[in-house]
Amino acid sequence: MATDTTPASPAPAPAFDEARLTELGALFRGALVAPGDPGYDDLRRLENAAIDRHPALIVRCTGTADVMDGVRLARDEGAPLAVRAGGHHVGGHGSVDDGIVLDLRDMNAVRVDPTTSMVHVQGGATWGQVDREAQAFGLAVPGGIVSTTGVGGLTLGGGVGWLVRRWGLSCDSLVSARVVLASGELVTASEDENPDLFWAIRGGGGNFGVAVDLTFEAQRLGPEIAMAFSFHPLEAAADVLPRWRDLARDADDEVTSRAMLWSMADREDVPPPVRGRDVLIIGALYAGDPATGRPVVDAYRGLGETLLDMSDLLTDYRFAQSAFDGDDTPVHSYWKSLYLDDLTDEALAFIIDRAMDRPDPGVLVHVPAMGGACARVQADATAFGDRSAPFMLSFDGMTEDPAKLDEVRDWVRASAEAARLLEGAGGTYLNFVGDDAADRRVVDQQFGGNLARLREVKKAYDPGNLFRVNNNIPPA
Ligand SMILES: Cc1cc2nc3c(=O)[nH]c(=O)nc-3n(C[C@H](O)[C@H](O)[C@H](O)COP(=O)(O)OP(=O)(O)OC[C@H]3O[C@@H](n4cnc5c(N)ncnc54)[C@H](O)[C@@H]3O)c2cc1C
Repeated sequence: MATDTTPASPAPAPAFDEARLTELGALFRGALVAPGDPGYDDLRRLENAAIDRHPALIVRCTGTADVMDGVRLARDEGAPLAVRAGGHHVGGHGSVDDGIVLDLRDMNAVRVDPTTSMVHVQGGATWGQVDREAQAFGLAVPGGIVSTTGVGGLTLGGGVGWLVRRWGLSCDSLVSARVVLASGELVTASEDENPDLFWAIRGGGGNFGVAVDLTFEAQRLGPEIAMAFSFHPLEAAADVLPRWRDLARDADDEVTSRAMLWSMADREDVPPPVRGRDVLIIGALYAGDPATGRPVVDAYRGLGETLLDMSDLLTDYRFAQSAFDGDDTPVHSYWKSLYLDDLTDEALAFIIDRAMDRPDPGVLVHVPAMGGACARVQADATAFGDRSAPFMLSFDGMTEDPAKLDEVRDWVRASAEAARLLEGAGGTYLNFVGDDAADRRVVDQQFGGNLARLREVKKAYDPGNLFRVNNNIPPA
């Protein structure tokens, strides 16, 4: 059974009959797609197959004007409004029942200025599209680790990837954004213009408006990189994990690493040594000169019994950025995460115990290292909140079998609850949250001392809470 966690809306469902759609069709440049139209079911589909929403209207926005009119339409109709970029939010924030979805996917242009290293990205682009353009100039913007994830949702909610220890969260590289507010007006958010809005969108999610484009400062990296990427049998985790932890604890900022306790699919495209096997993956990327980095990441290889070592293949940044991309098989998901101040022996034993007891091979226990440049940004410098923890622990419940989702969800909830008892357990990464109704307290806790200011900014820019299909921050 799917868990649908869209915040309840008092607004009645708008009716878009044919006459109204014809009238609106003359206004918008992008296509308007309503229930029954060809393509409606494809367009409303989200990354999480467990979420099955039926919007009253999908606006395939082609530019800022469509977004401005889409926002005004939702406001005037009193319709629930969702904004969709990559559609990856595990709680399904990219869509809404009986409301209007502003689908930004056709707004995916990326423009790189190689002289200033600035990368201009439209609000519906994915990280794969950014990497494609930026890498042509040997530039990289800190993004996520899957190429199909949206830049919009990931950045506004923080953004943790392979470059997080070297250059911080994705939102830390944001220089400005142009945002369509609830009034339908377009404003710029930067250190110089509307700085309160700029502060709020770096971690506060889509609460304040629609980012129609985002400008990032990119860094010199790639195409060639140094990376370690080894698969160990899951049974070797008790040997391998402490060795990885010791390396990760003392790593220089250039190295971002992670441990993934998972099962590889039993499919022909999976290399035979790991096909259908329970594994522990250790990955480490060096964000700097590959010649300098190679001996550094070599330390992350061969930490114990090894089934497969792909390090010598993962030498291209874009390849590394898509190493975890899935195929088209629908996956039903429910995730929860928390930060850890340390990976004590007790925490490692707990992680291994949970990994051995996963209810479905698709369930991933993910331990990304954080810290470095990310942790040096003060909690109140951006809306994101406290980012001092050196590690995250995420229970990414995923199954291809919808009948197993209840069991997976219960397991994720129980595991996350038990993890909260570990020494040094802290807040939650809100981009890895799959159940907002239950997590209201978690949302407030993560913003911590920033919550009051966020609520004031929300009141200034969206007093009617039009943008509420997100990790919602109610106006003050
Ligand atoms: C397979 C997978 C891999 C992931 N990997 C990573 C990772 O490596 N690192 C990481 O940090 N996170 C990762 N995530 C989590 C990801 O950051 C969140 O799911 C994020 O919300 C996805 O953004 P999106 O644009 O794809 O999603 P959507 O569902 O389209 O949007 C999510 C939220 O952001 C809002 N939003 C999106 N675009 C805009 C915009 N332009 N303006 C205003 N609001 C907007 C939406 O309204 C919605 O509330 C991953 C998720 C999945 C499913």
